[in-house]
Amino acid sequence: MTLQTAGIHHITAFAGDPQANVDFYAGVLGLRLVKKTINFDAPDVYHLYFGNEEGAPGTIITFFPFPGARRGRIGGGQVGFTTYVIPAGTSEFWRERLRSFGISFTEADRFGEHYLQFKDNEGLQLELVEREDGAASTWTFGGVPADKAIKGFGGAVLYSVDPQRTAYVLESVLGMEKVGEFAGFARFRATGELGNLIDLPMTAVPRGAGGAGTVHHIAWRAADFDEHEMWRGAVSSGGFQPTPVIDRQYFHAVYFREEGGILFEIATDPPGFAVDEDPMHLGEELMLPEWYENKRAQIENGLLPIEVREPGSRTQG
Ligand code: ZN
Repeated sequence: MTLQTAGIHHITAFAGDPQANVDFYAGVLGLRLVKKTINFDAPDVYHLYFGNEEGAPGTIITFFPFPGARRGRIGGGQVGFTTYVIPAGTSEFWRERLRSFGISFTEADRFGEHYLQFKDNEGLQLELVEREDGAASTWTFGGVPADKAIKGFGGAVLYSVDPQRTAYVLESVLGMEKVGEFAGFARFRATGELGNLIDLPMTAVPRGAGGAGTVHHIAWRAADFDEHEMWRGAVSSGGFQPTPVIDRQYFHAVYFREEGGILFEIATDPPGFAVDEDPMHLGEELMLPEWYENKRAQIENGLLPIEVREPGSRTQG
């Protein structure tokens, strides 16, 4: 049996100032900060997770905000656009909202769908597309009512230095189905309702450089821990060298770099973000894995304080 991923589990990117990151993803986009923790491999840096109310797989974007970080260059070997799904009929609401924050956007069509494309405060490329698929958001924040809110990821546009090889991984390792070609893009579909449509420009993109405003990796969903073990085997069989299984507290992870240069992760749906916090109060306290608790005071001292705040409370007009 060939394994098939349901689609994107999360996307992880680099940012600069952590408060500006919160102000954009919670304040402008209306997402929920579902987890405030640290980079487990570099505990002097936050790891911030934004998603829908419960932080469901397929809705989660995560950031390592390094204050004063140098900007990267978006290019091959990275996610080019992170695509968010909004409810049908809400594009005009989002045009008005982006305008009200002074965020310029362009409009594009792909595979018969209409996209609003813009950048976050660090230059990360984002787009919004209306779709019927995917459960409606239940989260209301910052002037985005639940019935207009982002539902989660629609998918992503992958920038590959070797698109044929990236297409091979998507189909033969991740079990996606190629469903179309349009204007130089190939489209691949995973089995889920969110994070399931992956668009790949079939012309190689010159290699980018990591830094603020670029994606570090994209993670694909494994249904449970047993399936995760099978995924690790499938990645090996596909000719790649996966890392050992790593416990990321909210999911288990394995990583491998595909030949188009993009760092892929396979992440488990369980246990999720309520494993160490009350679902009603996700993201409010700094959460540390057990093995860092004895250094909490030192870690907290090294982090800039951040808060989730209504856009109106900002100094801009
Ligand atoms: Zn990850």
